[in-house]
Amino acid sequence: MKTIYFDNNATTKVAEEVLEEMKPYFCELYGNPSSMHTFGGQIGAKIRNAREQIAALLGCEPSEIIFTAGGTESDNTAIMGTLAAAPNKRKIITTRVEHPAVLVVCRELENRGYTVVELGVDKQGRLNLAELENQIDDDDTALVTIMYANNETGVVFPIQEIAEIVTGKGVVFHTDAVQPIGKIPLNLSKSNIDLLSLSGHKLHAPKGVGALYVKKGTRLSPFMLGGHQEGERRAGTENVPGIIGLGKACELAAKNIEEENQRVKSLRDKLETALLEKCPGSRLNGDKENRLPNTSNISFEYIEGEAILLMLDRYGICASSGSACTSGSLEPSHVLRAMGVPFTAAHGSIRFSLSRYNTEEEVDYTIEKMPEIVNKLRKLSPFVAK
Ligand code: PLP
Repeated sequence: MKTIYFDNNATTKVAEEVLEEMKPYFCELYGNPSSMHTFGGQIGAKIRNAREQIAALLGCEPSEIIFTAGGTESDNTAIMGTLAAAPNKRKIITTRVEHPAVLVVCRELENRGYTVVELGVDKQGRLNLAELENQIDDDDTALVTIMYANNETGVVFPIQEIAEIVTGKGVVFHTDAVQPIGKIPLNLSKSNIDLLSLSGHKLHAPKGVGALYVKKGTRLSPFMLGGHQEGERRAGTENVPGIIGLGKACELAAKNIEEENQRVKSLRDKLETALLEKCPGSRLNGDKENRLPNTSNISFEYIEGEAILLMLDRYGICASSGSACTSGSLEPSHVLRAMGVPFTAAHGSIRFSLSRYNTEEEVDYTIEKMPEIVNKLRKLSPFVAK
């Protein structure tokens, strides 16, 4: 049975071109870039090249990129590094719909005595920017950390406007951009964003590599200690093949971003429109207009998302209920709860997330199978009048 992979917000396939670029750096050119000999030293040029490829996608300077071990480390570094650089400030502002890589860190900081404000969202997952502005206390706010696009619903926040509000008050602004990078264009040279996290495995590079953009002049203490790598900004021997892969993946994304956006969006829209039409009791979660082009989060009322996933799995179709990190728990997603999605709908939510590798046939097959699955499960549901 062929696998139909609609779980690209959880992770993506490594692009063949990316793998090819990485291959020599495992068994042939395996030197340590910090070594004095030429064998290791030659790797430095490849790392510089990767930094340039990432900077080109983001519209920033290569020196503003720090390599990390992924999105979680980038988020932790941005938050902890900013607080360490401003020890007298004790307030952090974030949102209730962040990924745990931000939310759990902020809640831990609250336990350690920081004041943490979690901004709510409306029914469509949108922020109230006036509320954000009111919450910023210039003297005490160390950091505002707000995601660019939500991993569960795909809702995109007006990040440039948010960055202007925050930095206009002299406060550092970090955004978790793990989901949108490679999916929608961004130009940091025209932006007030101070810190931005991205992760390789969401854009067809391998897992365990990521980057943190640090705008020139931003005060950030190192989070990982114990080495001189990355200009003393992130200790630890570089993940050389991963970094090279991330650079190549960014180059590929930069080349095709507009075209792929359109193709993926039209596949996503075809799937979404058909499922909402053919499956009674279904509803879309999140702001329909301001969304990533690849993501669709649909609730099928009165049935369990996990049951739908198991039945999809029998047909080789991979999707997700809630985020990959929260799946496995029976708690409905914190994102949908923050949006006020009723319990009966939040439990039956499925996220389809597409990529450039999906095809129309895969979409058509899913459109054929999904109503069958929903009808079957509805018949078993104790909540539906028969
Ligand atoms: N932030 C967001 C929005 C994510 O979706 C994820 C992964 O799902 C992460 C952070 C964590 O990234 P990583 O898996 O690279 O640690």
